[in-house]
Amino acid sequence: ALFNEFTPPKFPDLSTVKARLVWNENPYGPSNKAQEAFAKAVVEGNHYSWGSLNKLVTKICKNENVKPSQIMMGPGSSDLLEKVAMVYFQNGGNIISADPSYMSLVAVAEASGGTWKPIKLTDDYQHDLDAMEAAIDADTKLVYITNPNNPTATLTNPKKLENFCKRVSKKVPIFIDEAYIELSEAGMKNSMVHLVEKGHDVMVARTFSKIHGMAGLRVGYMAASENIINKIGEITRGGMGITGPSIAAANASLDDAEYLDMCKTELTKARIDTMAYLKSKGIDYMPSQTNFVIFPIDMEGDVFLEKVYAKKIVVRAFNFWDQNWCRVSMGKPKEMQYFFEAMDEILA
Ligand code: PLP
Repeated sequence: ALFNEFTPPKFPDLSTVKARLVWNENPYGPSNKAQEAFAKAVVEGNHYSWGSLNKLVTKICKNENVKPSQIMMGPGSSDLLEKVAMVYFQNGGNIISADPSYMSLVAVAEASGGTWKPIKLTDDYQHDLDAMEAAIDADTKLVYITNPNNPTATLTNPKKLENFCKRVSKKVPIFIDEAYIELSEAGMKNSMVHLVEKGHDVMVARTFSKIHGMAGLRVGYMAASENIINKIGEITRGGMGITGPSIAAANASLDDAEYLDMCKTELTKARIDTMAYLKSKGIDYMPSQTNFVIFPIDMEGDVFLEKVYAKKIVVRAFNFWDQNWCRVSMGKPKEMQYFFEAMDEILA
């Protein structure tokens, strides 16, 4: 069930790469408006940023239809994933999540004394919700679901997930990591955040790192029932780790709907092109609803990476289910072109 990453010794100097397709970043962002807001906020750097943080929370609450008491902010969603893991697993217990899935919450849960119960995705790469429910026992502290999932880029049916959350959250709290949800075809319609509003014990994490193109600026948040926010808030403060300029940039980015639409359009186009390319090569990729695509490779991951790196392109390679995989993040059209040309040569 372990999911391994290939780490060859010579990672290229990133300042020389022609296509940076490695960390599921957004090649377009941050928007000009976000950059301007960031720069303008620097002069306020002597002050704590509670005022602009409250403004951001108010905006988020309006978008998500939740109350400020149901939001916890953090420097990226990683911060919240880790905080939740530390609070929920301080006395051990088990966590149920998909194999494979995003591992940072699980890794901190394990480091805190918890154990991981991995549940393999279904044959069509969705969370196996029935098997996840069946795996719950008296020691289960949390169910973690990433939708769309990473590293597979696949979406779990939102209707099924909603029913699962309504039923299962009565037994165990559920964490839904929606880092890529804005990039999925139906976008926010796939979100589970409305369950927070209705009082279910679910946590929904979102980030400014993907559609907003702000991975380096570090802003994320979690919406959850008040009892969950309070439980975490007893031990640790949420918004304290975000810098004022990043808060200002997030505020500006939320208002820049046109820019966010452009990012979604371009990244969707890139993933459609990438899937079409792979199809033309007879490669059985997983259907992507995100800004990355994963596909099987017929060679050792580090051999493959060395060939890709030699073309001044960076991607990632994993092994799970006894298969090696390449995960390629979506870049600008020119970067994707370099990638396709490199693949033509590597596959030849
Ligand atoms: N969750 C998922 C599924 C991710 O893929 C990532 C980053 O790649 C994160 C969370 C963390 O993102 P950040 O801490 O930048 O919000």
